[in-house]
Amino acid sequence: MKTEENNLMEKIVSLCKRRGFIFPGSEIYGGLAGTYDWGHFGVALKNNIKQNWWKKFVDNRRDMYGVDAAILMRQEVWQASGHVAGFADPMSECINCGHRFRTDQISLDIHGHAKTCPDCDGKLKSPQQFNMMFQTKVGASDDSSAISYLRPETAQGMFVNFKNTVDAFHPKLPFGMAQIGKAFRNEITPRDFIFRVREFEQMEIEYFVRSEDWEKYFEYWKGEMLDWMEEIGIDMGKVHELEIPKEDRAHYSSRTVDFEFEYPFGQKELFGLAYRTDFDLKNHKLDYIDEEKSGKIIPHVIEPTFGVDRAVLAILLSSYAEDEKDGEIRSYLKFKPSMAPVICAVSPLLKNKPELVEYANEKVFAPLKAEFGRVMWDDNGNIGKRYRRQDEIGTPFCIVVDFDTLTDNTVTVRDRDTGEQERIKVESLKKYIQDKI
Ligand code: ATP
Repeated sequence: MKTEENNLMEKIVSLCKRRGFIFPGSEIYGGLAGTYDWGHFGVALKNNIKQNWWKKFVDNRRDMYGVDAAILMRQEVWQASGHVAGFADPMSECINCGHRFRTDQISLDIHGHAKTCPDCDGKLKSPQQFNMMFQTKVGASDDSSAISYLRPETAQGMFVNFKNTVDAFHPKLPFGMAQIGKAFRNEITPRDFIFRVREFEQMEIEYFVRSEDWEKYFEYWKGEMLDWMEEIGIDMGKVHELEIPKEDRAHYSSRTVDFEFEYPFGQKELFGLAYRTDFDLKNHKLDYIDEEKSGKIIPHVIEPTFGVDRAVLAILLSSYAEDEKDGEIRSYLKFKPSMAPVICAVSPLLKNKPELVEYANEKVFAPLKAEFGRVMWDDNGNIGKRYRRQDEIGTPFCIVVDFDTLTDNTVTVRDRDTGEQERIKVESLKKYIQDKI
């Protein structure tokens, strides 16, 4: 029998595909594990998350500098950062079927050794370290100097531009750099939909502080991260802070707090906050002239890091709801209006009545579309079907133009969560929606 939790994941995966949010990567050729393609509404949701993040952490601040670094960088970057030597997970390989597993994700015996192969029960070879960076070659030459890597984190793209940023903008400490972009990890066992994938997006901040101030700013960023999670509609009752013990921290970190989320498949990392000390700037031989201290120092770094894909999953799981409407179970996504891929849908009551279609198109849809962009024309099927579809997309408002509209210039606006309808004047629609975003 399936557990309710498994059921919830299945429902979300299926809704995402059916409604055009997220598709399995390379699907028509049998799929490529750990990759997903994003459809129209998935892109919209992701964009809303990224734009909201950028606004809060870059545009609304005076101490943050944006970066969009190249994904391919010289191999020396990854040597200095410690990733070539140390960005590895322990891997166990089955002697019998050859399948490979992340050792810390399979059951272990009392000595901490993996027991048997989860697929065929075969014997496992002793674990090896498996480097998760995707290696590639840059240019036509085949020697080792051409080796490069798809970046496994966006952070290094900021550290290598630390000097450029300081020279261009002369920031005073504390200040930060921020970047949103793709990261790639050759995960041994990608799993759980978009939770653990091989190609994903990160939103990262490197916040540079004087060494003596790190604890103060660590606490400060913890608060900022929690505020933002709430703002985008993550169920805060399911978020837990976990202090990571020394032996489990990344090679660069002296303190890490993970924000874990209660996913249906277990409580696991959503975002992280790390104190990277002066590890990276020191390894890249970078420093900073601190006028206040009249001398060269190496700033220390607090790093709030956010995975876009895990943010999407947490929002989907926090928003998914079911209730009974008109004797039927309906499922809907109760996104905050600021996150919803579609802010409102516009429908003529009947699509074969040209006067309704014309009014709906010219006087309602066109001005709302010009104002908000995320507005959908929906005249497919009967009104009940349209509501069900928009509920699953998570559209907060459905606007219907009917025969009364033609005489009194009002429309019905239906609320996604309550199903209640009110009549609103067409001329007040923009403000009505603006006030809800
Ligand atoms: P995990 O322990 O789950 O492998 P991590 O500790 O290696 O994650 P970080 O290196 O801290 O993760 O990466 C920063 C953020 O990037 C994570 O908090 C997460 O949101 C996201 N992230 C990391 N790996 C993946 C992945 N394989 N798929 C999707 N998102 C990821």
